[in-house]
Amino acid sequence: MDNCIFCKIAAKQIPSKSVYEDEELIAFHDINPASPVHILIVPKQHIATLSECNEKHAAMLGRMMVLAPRLAAELGCGYEGDGAGKGSGGFKTQFNTGPDGGQEVYHLHLHVMGGPRPWRGQR
Ligand code: AMP
Ligand code: ZN
Repeated sequence: MDNCIFCKIAAKQIPSKSVYEDEELIAFHDINPASPVHILIVPKQHIATLSECNEKHAAMLGRMMVLAPRLAAELGCGYEGDGAGKGSGGFKTQFNTGPDGGQEVYHLHLHVMGGPRPWRGQR
């Protein structure tokens, strides 16, 4: 996809602060972080929005979601607790879709935001 910033990052035509890469996905630090840790998990394939996804994308979307807690833990904002509200750390996962969803970059991406509060952004 011409002129797509995340396609260019996936193709290494423009730099990013990479934290993960495999044959299907990349992850890198958000250039304008809303929280102490703020990364984006992005498919290498150009898909504009979550609304373009269908059953064929289910496995890839699942891999994105499973990668989120793993990278959060590696970056120091994993959730450590009993799974019932006790504990510390943690992070937010967010897909923005379309204008009312606050989407700015029209290449699918999953925000993973964490770290000690308060956060700077409004996410
Ligand atoms: P969204 O509003 O969900 O489309 O979010 C797009 C995100 O991409 C924003 O948080 C931006 O700060 C981030 N962003 C835009 N350009 C870059 C870039 N070149 N490298 C890293 N993050 C970027
Ligand atoms: Zn793209």
